[in-house]
Amino acid sequence: MEQKKLEKKLFGTNGVRGVVGKEMTTNLALSIGMALGTMRPGTIAVGRDTRTSGPSLISALKAGLLAAGCDVVDLGILPTPALQFIVRTHFDAGAVVTASHNPPEYNGVKVIEPDGTEMGDEQSIALEGHIFSGDSYVAPWDHVGKERAAPSMVDEYVTAVVNSFPPGTGEGFLVAADPGCGAAAWTTPEILSRMGCRVFSLNSQMDGTFPGRLPEPSPEGLAPLADLVRVTGARFGVAHDGDADRAVFIDDRGRFLEENMLFGLIADYICSGRKGVIVTPVSTSRLIEVIAKRHGCSVCYTPVGSIYVARTMIELAHGGTEVAFGGEGNGGLIFPEHQLCRDGGMTTATMVALLAQSSRPFSSLVDDLPPFTMIKEKIHVKDAPALIARLKQAFAGESLDCTDGIRINREDSWALVRPSGTEPLVRIMVESASESRAQRFYDEIIPHFRT
Ligand code: MG
Repeated sequence: MEQKKLEKKLFGTNGVRGVVGKEMTTNLALSIGMALGTMRPGTIAVGRDTRTSGPSLISALKAGLLAAGCDVVDLGILPTPALQFIVRTHFDAGAVVTASHNPPEYNGVKVIEPDGTEMGDEQSIALEGHIFSGDSYVAPWDHVGKERAAPSMVDEYVTAVVNSFPPGTGEGFLVAADPGCGAAAWTTPEILSRMGCRVFSLNSQMDGTFPGRLPEPSPEGLAPLADLVRVTGARFGVAHDGDADRAVFIDDRGRFLEENMLFGLIADYICSGRKGVIVTPVSTSRLIEVIAKRHGCSVCYTPVGSIYVARTMIELAHGGTEVAFGGEGNGGLIFPEHQLCRDGGMTTATMVALLAQSSRPFSSLVDDLPPFTMIKEKIHVKDAPALIARLKQAFAGESLDCTDGIRINREDSWALVRPSGTEPLVRIMVESASESRAQRFYDEIIPHFRT
């Protein structure tokens, strides 16, 4: 049942990603296409976000797939979850050219399995093997693939999200949307409109230079959205990262909703109707445990990374366990009845349904959530495994969870110390209901960083 992280060379937790022309090149996209075509022969769907480097990278990716004998269907610009939904319904695999929340100079490739989930560690390592050894299949002249464009297929995703709720669920709602000039520029306003909402939007033109704000939907970047909410009297504001697998919200008073609180709010709504396990990484607030308990549900922790959440949800379901919900404390939420990946469009639609069911304003629901304080730091460490070993020894008498790094669980607080997969640093998170207790726990851990 337990998901373990495996060491990869090119792939991070969310595919291959890097600065265009440095780590992320057209040659690499070509190699990924050839390797994917070798591993997943058949008809492959590709798509991309709005980045300026998208056309050149997707062309190289398609060239590799076609050379390996795959037929390619180009879905154009669309959210990652839209491509995942369409792959699961129609295709043998997929790939999306995106760097998600990274700045405009980045790009990358996420590989999607036939069931619509992101490719797991073992298969990604096999794909890397083909890239490094150069042993990908090259089809003879009479078996190279054919390409066709299908930009209208994205409508299937929008329709599926809208049809997950009763018609007219959003009637009488005014909503402000900021797709950040990214892949959801058409889909999220369209989902909201079809649910009956009246939509005001900004940054809803597709533009890979991201002139309005950076692809990461930060509280600072969303200040104009908060103004739009206040000025229009909208019920809420919603924004996405560049590929719209995440959604973040502004309440009716113009306040940015911290993403763990968003997770808690939606978990409360989902678990009032659906019982079972909530799957989430060890870095998520204990707020989720509190909400789960309220509804007779439980929490299962995974390593950090949405792919581990999705794969654990699949394994639990296969083993006969009822899975209610999944997600991360960064606005990436997984609705298992819809599909087993993070979905910013579905998160937006669910927020409309949640508020339609409640007679209270968004801000009062937020204010009712149990309070918590979280301290987050990144610390430079040369030997992270040695640090983790020291912490295991120092806190041996306590309740420890070693799913990813080390999490020390106490009655009223917890702390996580976790090595970064890509840099010589560790991330430390400490959470408690009170600020002073969180600080005291943090101060207890820090001396162990000194050898
Ligand atoms: Mg993303």
